[in-house]
Amino acid sequence: MDDYQKYFGETHNMVRDTVRKFVEREIKPHVDEWEEQGEFPRDLYARAGAAGILGIGYPEACGGSGGDLFVKIAATEELMRCGSGGVAAGLGSLDIGIPPILALGTEEQKSRMAPPVFRGERISALGITEPDAGSDVANVRTRAVRKDDHYVVNGSKMFITSGARADQLTCAVRTGGEGYGGISLLVIDADTPGYSVSEKLKKMGWWASDTAQIFFDDCRVPVENLLGDEGQGFYGIMKNFQNERLQLAIMANMTAQMALEESLRYARERRAFNRPLTGFQVTRHKLADMATRVEASREFTYRVAARIGVGENQVKEISMAKNFACLVSDRVTYDAVQIHGGFGYMREYLVERLYRDNRILSIGGGTQEIMKEIISKMIL
Ligand SMILES: Cc1cc2nc3c(=O)[nH]c(=O)nc-3n(C[C@H](O)[C@H](O)[C@H](O)COP(=O)(O)OP(=O)(O)OC[C@H]3O[C@@H](n4cnc5c(N)ncnc54)[C@H](O)[C@@H]3O)c2cc1C
Repeated sequence: MDDYQKYFGETHNMVRDTVRKFVEREIKPHVDEWEEQGEFPRDLYARAGAAGILGIGYPEACGGSGGDLFVKIAATEELMRCGSGGVAAGLGSLDIGIPPILALGTEEQKSRMAPPVFRGERISALGITEPDAGSDVANVRTRAVRKDDHYVVNGSKMFITSGARADQLTCAVRTGGEGYGGISLLVIDADTPGYSVSEKLKKMGWWASDTAQIFFDDCRVPVENLLGDEGQGFYGIMKNFQNERLQLAIMANMTAQMALEESLRYARERRAFNRPLTGFQVTRHKLADMATRVEASREFTYRVAARIGVGENQVKEISMAKNFACLVSDRVTYDAVQIHGGFGYMREYLVERLYRDNRILSIGGGTQEIMKEIISKMIL
């Protein structure tokens, strides 16, 4: 990591070390079991909270552990080292659930809704997607009708990360007319009567994270849980996307990095036709291409992050970084499985999981195609 001193200094390295030790001690020994079980223990949130890990990158005034964008990046990279995108996504669902609260919430809402999540006592999730509205966020149909000091919410949310056991859902609802101007954000407690959750959805990857559909049936939510004003929801969602896309780019880069490392190791050890795989030029060149792609993507993502960090508008660039990182991780995980031959198809090899976990990264947080729509609008 010496090459990255320009982005990461002493504080970043200390945080990186803390998260690395936590991952080595608390996650890695159990991760295969949790993947097979389809979830990790709930008390992992509390342990990560007690170690200050959940609050990394969030202001101390809001109960966070502080730190800039690169502190958060270092933490995410180390968390990904656990080898399970599902654990990273599940523990990290607060990274999409909490930012709208901090961006739009009052001081009272921030102090009520954020610190228990950073301590790992409550689980936060984000509910935007619906069965009939994914990419087309402005078409959200879950309706919230104001009655006195409550909103009565009816509808449902689809594919929600940590949805099965979240305690609070930062949720996009329609309080007004058609289109983006009619959308608001409500924080809905999971113990509200009328709130129910499906069975955990069975997925291609991210096995250790719980993903669920959530239903609202005359769910009465106090008006104190409205974030910002009515109609500000779309703005809150879009603001969140920049952060989510950066995190997804980092996840893709780390997936590719780990796939490369596994492949380098395997290609040195595995022998065929009386020589190690590295004895074949085709394998060496494949590894060279993988390393080049990983390096280029990581550098580009860091550069975009640095610009976000100093407050520059990077909507186009972060869309490019997410897409590029996902193209790289698609290709590198594919090649990693290929280099591993039949063993690459077996569950005990990390590349098998990296290959599956990777697939969601170019769908979640805005698909490849939606990123291209954003980029093309900005360059044309
Ligand atoms: C494991 C997992 C976890 C998730 N976690 C969450 C979560 O925590 N919270 C949450 O709110 N959502 C979550 N999602 C939902 C995710 O964000 C959506 O799946 C994603 O935004 C795409 O929406 P969709 O599935 O409805 O696909 P659609 O929008 O129906 O898209 C289908 C296809 O059509 C393409 N398409 C759509 N519109 C256009 C267009 N204008 N131009 C070109 N192509 C287009 C898409 O790119 C895609 O290829 C999760 C999904 C998964 C699978």
